[in-house]
Amino acid sequence: MMGWMPSPMDQSDSETTKLSAEATECGRIELVCGCMFSGKSLQLMDRVRQARQAGLKVAAFKHASDDRYGQTHIVTHNGQRMEATPVASADRIASLAGDANVIAIDEGQFFDSSLVDACQRMARAGRVVIVAGLDRDSWGLPFGPIPALAEIADQVTRTTAVCARCGQPAEYTQRLVPVADRTMIGGRESYEPRCSRCFQPPPADLRR
Ligand SMILES: [Zn+2]
Repeated sequence: MMGWMPSPMDQSDSETTKLSAEATECGRIELVCGCMFSGKSLQLMDRVRQARQAGLKVAAFKHASDDRYGQTHIVTHNGQRMEATPVASADRIASLAGDANVIAIDEGQFFDSSLVDACQRMARAGRVVIVAGLDRDSWGLPFGPIPALAEIADQVTRTTAVCARCGQPAEYTQRLVPVADRTMIGGRESYEPRCSRCFQPPPADLRR
């Protein structure tokens, strides 16, 4: 399952050792997507922990608009925390990441479409980019750059939750409070996971 880390290079190969370190690293894009409460941030954290244990340098980011649990941490719904730099624009991630081998990005759905290009550039430069994000919004429709990222990612992990109504696997995020804007920032009190049968989207004309 964890086939996401760069393959170890055979350093005894003289052809390989002539290449620069950057050229020999295998960059890739990995996406973890699903509805709320499906464990996306937890998976992101697990991967970061494994990368650090493998001696890789990791830089973690989150979208600056997500201030649910404080600006400088990725926090799972069950309370695990990891430091992350808040950024408002995907273009800033590459420069802020310094010489990190692995770049983790949480709440990817809040970035605009430039996230896709930014991830591709970082992967081409030999970095492993791992993005977690919601694939569908409150209306069950594509959320930000996540579906486009799924098209080009080297590995896509789709996470499911348990439907709060019937207990079947849930792929949708049910909004439980009136729609004020399109953002889906909120905790357990504002949303619950639902399966496709139990999901009831808000009126379409409220989607911006
Ligand atoms: Zn259901």
